[in-house]
Amino acid sequence: MKTLQLTIICCFFLCNLSAQVHKCGSTLVEESLEASYPGMKELIKKTYDYALENASQTRDVYEIPVVVHVLYNNANQNLSDEIILSQIEVLNEDFRRQNPDKDLTREIFLPVAADAEIEFVLANVDPDGNPTSGITRTQTDKESFVELDLASLLAALIECGVDITNPEVTDEQLECIFESLGGFDLDVMKSSTTGGIEPWDTERYLNIWVCNLAVNLTGEDLPFLLGFAYPPVGAPNWPAGTIPDDIEAKDGVVVHYQAFGRNNPFNGPLAGLSDKGRTATHEVGHYLGLRHIWGDGDCMMDDGLEDTPSAGTNSQTQTADIPSCESLHEKDSCLEDMMPDMIENYMDYSVESCQNMFSNQQVGLMRAMLEGPRSGLLDNMMSTTEDEQSLHFTLSPNPFSSTIEITTNESTQLEVSTLNGQRLMFKTLDAGLNSVNTDHFRPGVYLIKLSNGVNKSVVEKLIKI
Ligand SMILES: [Zn+2]
Repeated sequence: MKTLQLTIICCFFLCNLSAQVHKCGSTLVEESLEASYPGMKELIKKTYDYALENASQTRDVYEIPVVVHVLYNNANQNLSDEIILSQIEVLNEDFRRQNPDKDLTREIFLPVAADAEIEFVLANVDPDGNPTSGITRTQTDKESFVELDLASLLAALIECGVDITNPEVTDEQLECIFESLGGFDLDVMKSSTTGGIEPWDTERYLNIWVCNLAVNLTGEDLPFLLGFAYPPVGAPNWPAGTIPDDIEAKDGVVVHYQAFGRNNPFNGPLAGLSDKGRTATHEVGHYLGLRHIWGDGDCMMDDGLEDTPSAGTNSQTQTADIPSCESLHEKDSCLEDMMPDMIENYMDYSVESCQNMFSNQQVGLMRAMLEGPRSGLLDNMMSTTEDEQSLHFTLSPNPFSSTIEITTNESTQLEVSTLNGQRLMFKTLDAGLNSVNTDHFRPGVYLIKLSNGVNKSVVEKLIKI
């Protein structure tokens, strides 16, 4: 009898939890990192401050190679290529502000709604240099990658003061639950020894694991987390060894399979809430350094960005009813800033059909991360316009100390700038071999852009030692 009561209570708790959208584990990731590597939270914050100070001014389109690792225990979890492609399409729409619902952004926020000029493409070359679809599929014995049992979950709920008759779980309580459960391992899916699969080189690829993050306590799978992401850590001027090597083996994004892709036919309890592929948009936002717009706290806490108004709470749905965007538009949790909450922002927890924008400063920050700690993603072929195919060049050495030798196949404009957009050199190179003297550059990281001045350009990161 007691077990039955516990089951009912837990179901009540989890059923309500599952009605909440975008319950993402970014704060759990930080807690988990801090527990394993004391001081990491401070390094993450320093990285954020670095990106705030170096908000990008560049305008090239950056392209990020993606590998999607599908882990499946049953046929539903083995999502089709079509669903995976729909997710890549959603990322491209949302990060380019080409989303079909962009017209739903309220007028008051239109001046700051921005195109991030970041695109995503399934990798076509694997780490060994072989052609690939950019998708890996691995059958696993793991029924779920969140391993919880009923008794310990209930004990954690009580310990963390969750009112199980009216369960509204705050992020602090979720952290507490996590801690009380002994900090269950979030990263089980990232190793083949625990039923998952190892990432591809996390400096060069955005790894996205898609797997089951539901808990099954009552005979029914209920989503526990919809996703989580590792934040960028590190700035170009940090000494080597500041960041533990083994963190790299966990870097990337994880998304619950029911929340992946647009109109995923297996979305179950997430229908109408998290069915537009925006869990991945939100998590990739974290991966590129963004924080929640409510600053994970009250009106005194902030995301550090001026163009996302203060918010004292997130905008997640607390009931099983799906709210209208109009009703969410009434939300104004911090009256003193004279602005409503930006429930349109992908970094809120609002229902996905009401989300439709990133802000200018969020874009500047994500691009600063791509030009700094995440620049490895852009190293192979950093960026560009529609026709980049025929601008061929070689550049060596890199890192360099004095002279760089650049060979191009056509007359090319060379531009060298600092990471925050200050242009240091602009000259025309002839087709063939060119020697460029850089004695006057201080040691550091620079961006070098080669362009034929019409429609082809390539950007590379350059390090002076
Ligand atoms: Zn989040």
